[in-house]
Amino acid sequence: MDRRTLIAASLASMAAGTVTAGKASAQSAGGAVTPKVPAAAHVFKLGDFSVAAVHDGSAQRPLPPGFIRNLSDAETAAAFAAVGLPADKLSLTFTPMLVSTGKNLVLFDTGFADTGGPTTGKLIANLAAIGIKPEDIDTVVLSHFHGDHINGLRDKAGALLFPKAEVAVPAKEWAYWMDDATMNAAPEAAKGGFQGVRRAFGAEAGKVRRFDWGQEIVPGVTALQADGHTPGHTAFIIASGKEQMMYVADITNNPAIFAKNPDFKAVFDMDADRAIATRKAILDRAAADKIRLSFYHGAFPSTGFVAKSGNGYDFNPAFWS
Ligand SMILES: [Zn+2]
Repeated sequence: MDRRTLIAASLASMAAGTVTAGKASAQSAGGAVTPKVPAAAHVFKLGDFSVAAVHDGSAQRPLPPGFIRNLSDAETAAAFAAVGLPADKLSLTFTPMLVSTGKNLVLFDTGFADTGGPTTGKLIANLAAIGIKPEDIDTVVLSHFHGDHINGLRDKAGALLFPKAEVAVPAKEWAYWMDDATMNAAPEAAKGGFQGVRRAFGAEAGKVRRFDWGQEIVPGVTALQADGHTPGHTAFIIASGKEQMMYVADITNNPAIFAKNPDFKAVFDMDADRAIATRKAILDRAAADKIRLSFYHGAFPSTGFVAKSGNGYDFNPAFWS
């Protein structure tokens, strides 16, 4: 067996389960045992494919004023409290996804590497926990060009972190962020995003593969139009035999809030009305066809099903065994 086949086999043998990195517990000086088990990856089967939701980390910051543009801050706090989230904080997780098709080893989004804070940048360590080395990955697929999705392409010093991988990106996203006229016309506060994109692709920009919506990227992985969050934001249908799922990235911020209330306008959505239309179209389809979804910003492992409920959708985490 070559290494890729071995990886497929080993991922399959651990499907489905959650792998943890680090020691199971740590003895404190006083003798009390404090659990110390960072969650790493949740592995599951999809037809003949193996899929892993892999934790890059999480972050909490003060809830920015006006975070939900069509609610007052008091209403936003109430919406957070209603699902058990701290009302004064924005709590975010970051969950890239790995798919082993047996032929390709595909990583969707890359987290922060060492460009974020101490609570993020765990992707490579957590890939190691499921037996994956960065150089095993042959394709990195990016959903869109926000820093929490692309910064992990290289470390702060500039070294590529997935050195053997072809990087595949939505053509529409590339056209927007790599256009110098668009960057120059952007407000000063927005220029950092454009510069971050240029840093992430760097000298390799010429090798980046651009795909259109509807196009198959590798066998079993097809790009799906999902714009609104950004101009080229893309979801992906992953299909093996009769089974399919979708990696939906940032069609919601936390699905506990934004699937439940799809009309909420998150400040991160560049075209909020378009984001709402996209969110409803994809969630409607997933609810009707009972398609498993993996979100980027849901509570880890951020994968499960949605069901229609009132004006929105309940997010039901997938059964873990
Ligand atoms: Zn994001």
